[in-house]
Amino acid sequence: MSDAQSVSRRAFVAASAAALVGLTHKGERGVRGGFVEDGGAAGHRLRDNASLGPVRERRRLPLVIVGGGMAGLSAAWWCEKHGFRDYLLLESGDEAGGNARAGRNDVSGYPWGAHYVPVPGKQAMLARVLFEDLGVLRNGVWDERTLCHSPQERLFWRGEWHEGFEPMLNDSAADRAEFRRFQDRLDGLRSSGEFTIPVSRGRPARSALDALTLAQWLDREGFRSRALRWYADYAVRDDYGTAARDASAWAGLHYFVAREPDEKGPLTWPEGNGWIVKRLLERIGTRVRTGATVRAVSRPHGGRVVVVRTEDAEFTADACIWAAPIFVAARVIDGFGASPPLTTAPWLVANLTLREWPDERGSAPAWDNTIVDSPGLGYVNATHQRLSRPGGPTVWTYYHALVQQTPLEARRALRAMSWRDASEFVLSDLERAHPTLRRVVERVDIRRYAHAMARPEPGFLSAPWRSALAASRGPIWYGHADLSGLSVFEEAQDQGVRAARRALAHIGRG
Ligand SMILES: Cc1cc2nc3c(=O)[nH]c(=O)nc-3n(C[C@H](O)[C@H](O)[C@H](O)COP(=O)(O)OP(=O)(O)OC[C@H]3O[C@@H](n4cnc5c(N)ncnc54)[C@H](O)[C@@H]3O)c2cc1C
Repeated sequence: MSDAQSVSRRAFVAASAAALVGLTHKGERGVRGGFVEDGGAAGHRLRDNASLGPVRERRRLPLVIVGGGMAGLSAAWWCEKHGFRDYLLLESGDEAGGNARAGRNDVSGYPWGAHYVPVPGKQAMLARVLFEDLGVLRNGVWDERTLCHSPQERLFWRGEWHEGFEPMLNDSAADRAEFRRFQDRLDGLRSSGEFTIPVSRGRPARSALDALTLAQWLDREGFRSRALRWYADYAVRDDYGTAARDASAWAGLHYFVAREPDEKGPLTWPEGNGWIVKRLLERIGTRVRTGATVRAVSRPHGGRVVVVRTEDAEFTADACIWAAPIFVAARVIDGFGASPPLTTAPWLVANLTLREWPDERGSAPAWDNTIVDSPGLGYVNATHQRLSRPGGPTVWTYYHALVQQTPLEARRALRAMSWRDASEFVLSDLERAHPTLRRVVERVDIRRYAHAMARPEPGFLSAPWRSALAASRGPIWYGHADLSGLSVFEEAQDQGVRAARRALAHIGRG
């Protein structure tokens, strides 16, 4: 275990233990907040197979989409784009958006999860089409307001902030040499054409890299620099909610290799990818129904129609797009079979509302602010894109992927935590870089994700269940980021649209 991992493990275990025994922490006078709705109640009713209410509505229609995250919304966007509106999208949460949901208060909009999209390269054609539709890309030029302003990222290391990660990665001659060698290895992998975004555009070989963890690959290649190892681990915690010791080396390297090396950006908005959700919902209009948890999907007598049952309604459709997580499909879809052997990552996201910017040392505030050897992933600043003078009220979104324990242990600890314990955990982490934080924080609102995303563990590329679902011949098509195994915007969009294309062709509207 690296030093960074042991520090993080100690910190989280201490906070979980405090949660379990209900310790009292130093109180912050006047700090308010709470847990926000996280879909847990509906999820538990589904898990426990709670009895269903009477059917109050029956409807026959050509297409039902299950799940209103980025994948389901993208499927609906594709239908709308092709003039097809005779569908209904059923979303379990009280708002659509899934992991890309957002919130707003008097100070700013802010993300509850996904907060950026890397500037889509040439392969990410669909993402480019969407951004043209939304007016973010015009005649090949990206809207300056959505490209992340400088400085984009900074790192708190050795007691002060530094712009970018390079100062740490190039600290000693040995670090510098390893970092250069790492980049050479990435350049070599980039030219293989194996690492694409979205994954479906490439031809991932049954790569030997998918048989190793990222940590094993770093060992094998002789990368020992503590800074480089921390950086690699940070990257996979940040994108996949999975530590380097658990993530497939192929998935970990994909993070570094698949994107354009000299991209500008990323694209970001105060409310993160919630901005995209809002624009998509404007197009989808009344064809989305929230608070509608799908409890059963069946094909009576193995026939041509699909019956989709919520708590109080029943829809009979010619086609169904399943855009909800795959572990849920195994519980809901009749005849789906055993749940695929995938594990899911628990996360904690906190939005801190600040009266003013707290004290700090070193380089100027950036959009993305990371603390070395922190159990968390740092915070993004919702007011970063404003042109007005910084320093006034703002909202920080703090991210923490719970990789220190097994997913099951971490989920239990997360559930057992009181809001006070959780906010104390967040504040103690951040005050290492901002000693006066408690004086300026007004609210700490927290969202707990029990199952945020599938973890890309070794073997995920060649998992037979994934190719079997992708090859479905209908009338149920699968389109969720789980299908690619990498939970990022471009993959969710790609999977949602692929499913929509097939479903529309099936009902003769493609
Ligand atoms: C904290 C966090 C930060 C992230 N940051 C980024 C980022 O900055 N950039 C990025 O590209 N990606 C980010 N991601 C990844 C993000 O998961 C993807 O970008 C994408 O939003 C996934 O979309 P999806 O539709 O595949 O899945 P989900 O977002 O999981 O959507 C699935 C939807 O299905 C609904 N559902 C589940 N069960 C049912 C049911 N039975 N009936 C009806 N509805 C149901 C859920 O409520 C949910 O709305 C982040 C993820 C997390 C958790």
